[in-house]
Amino acid sequence: MEVRIEPCYPEIDAHESRVIEDLKSSSTQPIAEPSGWLDEEINRNILVTTVDKLLNWGRKTSLWTETSFTACCTFEFISTSSSRFDIARFGMEVLRSSPRHSDLIVTAGTLTWKMAPQIKRVYDQMAEPKWVIAMGACGISGGIFADSYSVVPGYNRILPVDVYIPGCPPRPEALLAGIEKLRKKIEQSSISNKS
Ligand code: SF4
Repeated sequence: MEVRIEPCYPEIDAHESRVIEDLKSSSTQPIAEPSGWLDEEINRNILVTTVDKLLNWGRKTSLWTETSFTACCTFEFISTSSSRFDIARFGMEVLRSSPRHSDLIVTAGTLTWKMAPQIKRVYDQMAEPKWVIAMGACGISGGIFADSYSVVPGYNRILPVDVYIPGCPPRPEALLAGIEKLRKKIEQSSISNKS
């Protein structure tokens, strides 16, 4: 006997499916990395440089991370935030559950197209300036699931990624090196060119 399962909320399912398909069709190419590494010195003057220094110091020493922990890389992040590796020294020890309180997303895990609109919405709700670290093979390219119909082949299809950390999963030392790279990038940014 054939068993038919009727959807409980067909209109909601249809709407969700449209949102996912729209995002998929507008995310066929990677988004270019924000140009924070470029030499922006030419746009500066002495006053802006001083203000930049103060702002950048505050930003790089209080990175507040939005929780975007979708798969196994999460456990390396948890390990990194524990006492042995101690990300408290970067002002990062408290994870935020609200995009309004966050300026960093660390993509610790595989992202499915089903979850993609939610992650994009969280990113859009974060205030500027904000940064993204793609952690692990899945975050960079979809990893071993890259060819799957359901997996986003890299967060950079939907978000501008600042730093990539390879590995499956990357060890805490690699994550710390990536965080240090981001801190250097923040150090070089300027309010005069919004990089
Ligand atoms: S990169 Fe490896 S460890 Fe990280 S989420 Fe993908 S499969 Fe898991």
